[in-house]
Amino acid sequence: MLQADDKGIRRAAEIIQQGGLVGIPTETVYGLAGNALNGSVSRKIFAAKGRPSDNPLIVHIAAEEEARPLVKEFPEPARKLAAAYWPGPLTMVLPKSELVPMETSGGLSTVAVRLPAHPVANRLIRACGCPLAAPSGNLSGRPSPTTARHMLHDMDGRIDAILDGGPCGVGVESTVLALAEQKPRLLRPGGVTLEMLQRVVGAVTVDPAVLHKLADGAQAASPGMKYKHYAPKAKVILVKGTAERYREFVNSKKAPGVGALCFDEDQHLLKVPSVPYGSGNDSAAQARELFDALRELDERQEIQLVYARCPEPEGVGMAVYNRLIRAAGFEVITL
Ligand code: AMP
Ligand code: MG
Repeated sequence: MLQADDKGIRRAAEIIQQGGLVGIPTETVYGLAGNALNGSVSRKIFAAKGRPSDNPLIVHIAAEEEARPLVKEFPEPARKLAAAYWPGPLTMVLPKSELVPMETSGGLSTVAVRLPAHPVANRLIRACGCPLAAPSGNLSGRPSPTTARHMLHDMDGRIDAILDGGPCGVGVESTVLALAEQKPRLLRPGGVTLEMLQRVVGAVTVDPAVLHKLADGAQAASPGMKYKHYAPKAKVILVKGTAERYREFVNSKKAPGVGALCFDEDQHLLKVPSVPYGSGNDSAAQARELFDALRELDERQEIQLVYARCPEPEGVGMAVYNRLIRAAGFEVITL
């Protein structure tokens, strides 16, 4: 574990320049970072995460101009969005240049690029002198890490170091927007909301896989969306309904092994073991706390079946809903 001070950042940069892998803080979640322009480093990232190699990596840069050599063109909507939301939790998918190895782009002709707002990430990228491929630093399928401790739990012995920059502010991964086609298309909701995108570029299509299960055999626009993700060991079922109905329902299911993933204000009224993930009217708090709550469920051996309170899928809540419905394997009960 490295402190996120000058010395720690210098050490992390040396490791990355030598082809190693370092866990890094960003404002969204912790990333597993290596030189994005070296295909063999990207292969090591896939191996460390146990990630299928057709699930592309996001390339992180430290200044907007650094996006240009990575892409064939940086069209007008990309320029406007960069001006509005970079640095920040927005990833743009654009046609890639020859500079980006096929390993990094998961075999696709496009590349996902982001300029993170976290000062440690920014200083590290500058110190490395190359863009960093940095997928979320979890083992494939597990909730993304929002603290250095989460990352150590998943990656101990698999990577060279972790820079500890404290807990992440946003708590869910970046918004992913495809700009390589006619109309901008939202592939993954995140901290930059649909409304924020629409304000800058007008109409944005929401890919059906954001809110619904992909039909069997359907092609995923964002390869990451076809894989099981975020699931704790316990079975999770998402429960839609009012606060009262949720409490009544969960209390009626009281039995050994049953637990709840609820809003803060539900907790004292529930008669089963529960883990809260923020207040019902605070989507930003839900986003910040969700992955830690999912990991805590894994530590609570007594809980094998989790009834999760459904968040309001508006604003940042769309990102929370998108992650939770995947954690639940799309199993939903409407009260
Ligand atoms: P992670 O790095 O774990 O935050 O996941 C990155 C997400 O971005 C995954 O869901 C990928 O499928 C998606 N992604 C990365 N590159 C591309 C791309 N070129 N086209 C579409 N989706 C991408
Ligand atoms: Mg991930």
